[in-house]
Amino acid sequence: MIIQKSTNPRISTFDSNNFSFGNTFIDHMVICEYENGKWGEVKVVPYGPLPFSPAMMGVNYGQACFEGMKAYKDEDDQVFLFRPEKNFARINKSAARLAMPEVTEEIFLGGLKALVDIDREWIPKGEGMSLYIRPLIFATEEALKARISNKYMFAIVATPAKSYYTEPVSVKISDFYSRAASGGVGSAKAAGNYAASFYPTQLAMEEGYDQIIWTDDATHKYFEESGTMNVFVRINDTIITPPTSEKILDGVTRDSFIQLAKKRGLEIKIEPIAVKDVIEAQKNGSLKEVWGVGTAVVTSVFQALGYDGEKLELPKLSNDESFALTLQKDLVDIQTNKAEDPFGWRVLVEKNVMETV
Ligand SMILES: *Cc1c(COP(=O)(O)O)cnc(C)c1O
Repeated sequence: MIIQKSTNPRISTFDSNNFSFGNTFIDHMVICEYENGKWGEVKVVPYGPLPFSPAMMGVNYGQACFEGMKAYKDEDDQVFLFRPEKNFARINKSAARLAMPEVTEEIFLGGLKALVDIDREWIPKGEGMSLYIRPLIFATEEALKARISNKYMFAIVATPAKSYYTEPVSVKISDFYSRAASGGVGSAKAAGNYAASFYPTQLAMEEGYDQIIWTDDATHKYFEESGTMNVFVRINDTIITPPTSEKILDGVTRDSFIQLAKKRGLEIKIEPIAVKDVIEAQKNGSLKEVWGVGTAVVTSVFQALGYDGEKLELPKLSNDESFALTLQKDLVDIQTNKAEDPFGWRVLVEKNVMETV
């Protein structure tokens, strides 16, 4: 690994009480280039733009996938990653589906730990604070040929993140657009999946919704995901989430919620959720909660569902009554080292990682 420290760090100008998530970048980034059938050396370099041609294959043919994960700082300034091996496995699954080369553990986890260690001062501390980390792979060959690229870049960039608290949102159950199709790339974290979701989401916003609940492409009769999050429904005291598939992304937060619900002894079913059952439950009062989960905000609680031109309200539950918020707290307490970690999910980022290798 090559470490090239910034000679002009911006950390002294960083105000953890006043920053913009998503466009404040830490001082360094990881890059690694693939060429002639193999990955080169992993480098930690000062954050900044790179020169690319508009003929780069990644932007023309869309060979690009990414991950989203976080690092957390506890009260004693210890830094932890959360289940990073899941993101490592998933980026390679995404890469394989997009005919891109897989990265090694040394590149992904080695680069990740070195970056988080070197810029640990950038990780804001306190309720809901974290460092949002974006590993990605994209095709860099300069060629207008519709085929698999011969050159790629793996990179990791990161931005400090604020409180995960979000207002309850209204979501529209999709009756036309789809996020994923049978045999498609829905289970890959492909950049193009996001591109394809923006327009339908914009239309839903124009109708007064914040987000979409994606339904299956063939019939629009079953829930799949909500926005870029996995979806959970609670009917009476039973939690239901759809099984992952080639159309549903296998979220780390989803899997963690399932395990935490089981640990609490809550009834949880992993089975298809029919739109009509949810609507019926809303009408007869047994629908208690619907929520989305993902790394970025952990939980997004829904206050209303849009279906067939109607806006169906959901009950307003207190934090104690809400399974979504109870499980969110269980998860965040483990992530931030406020609670025991019986699952072994936290991974400590050692100080001066590079001096030990
Ligand atoms: C990233 C993502 C999720 C959430 O995955 P996490 O690992 O929990 O962050 C869910 N659905 C889609 C479509 C995603 O891209």
